[in-house]
Amino acid sequence: MENDLELSGAKWSKKFPGSTDTKDLSGNFRLAINDFICAMQEAGIKVKINATLRPQKRSYLMHYSYRIAKNGYDPKKVPSMQGINIKWDHGTKEESVKAARDMTSALDIQTLQTRPALRSQHNTGLAIDMNLTWEKTIEIEDASGNVVKINTLPRTGMNKQLIAVAATYGVKKYNGPGRDFPHWSNNGR
Ligand SMILES: [Zn+2]
Repeated sequence: MENDLELSGAKWSKKFPGSTDTKDLSGNFRLAINDFICAMQEAGIKVKINATLRPQKRSYLMHYSYRIAKNGYDPKKVPSMQGINIKWDHGTKEESVKAARDMTSALDIQTLQTRPALRSQHNTGLAIDMNLTWEKTIEIEDASGNVVKINTLPRTGMNKQLIAVAATYGVKKYNGPGRDFPHWSNNGR
């Protein structure tokens, strides 16, 4: 019903919060991530987790606020989603875009190069976003207990040697379309 709808805006970022805790991840992936993070920390890698489980509704808010704010998507054309009484159309294009822009800031997606996916492995607890940094050469144990020396650049989650070690734990770096630097999952998507 039209009367029950609430206009889009920054406050929506609080409604369907995501988690940054690995305990909210699913089954085997949770175990894999915990082992991998433990190995990284023992190796001296600083791990900062930005997102784990993300409700589907939050993905919807992220996806469409980004498209309206950044891609010129028509706010009148956003499909509704069950359980979300959001009104994207503020009457004027200017107001609608401003509200969507406020939302992308509140959701902390305003600087992303590619729009957030409408559905992702985060929705089922099978993905994690994390920033990884370290100094100098490190040695890390893979899932079989082999010690792997990481002596190449960059010293971030984009390091190919680290990506190979992660795979031994069942943790796959994002390999889908576009770029998603902090994203790891059970299947690379
Ligand atoms: Zn992600």
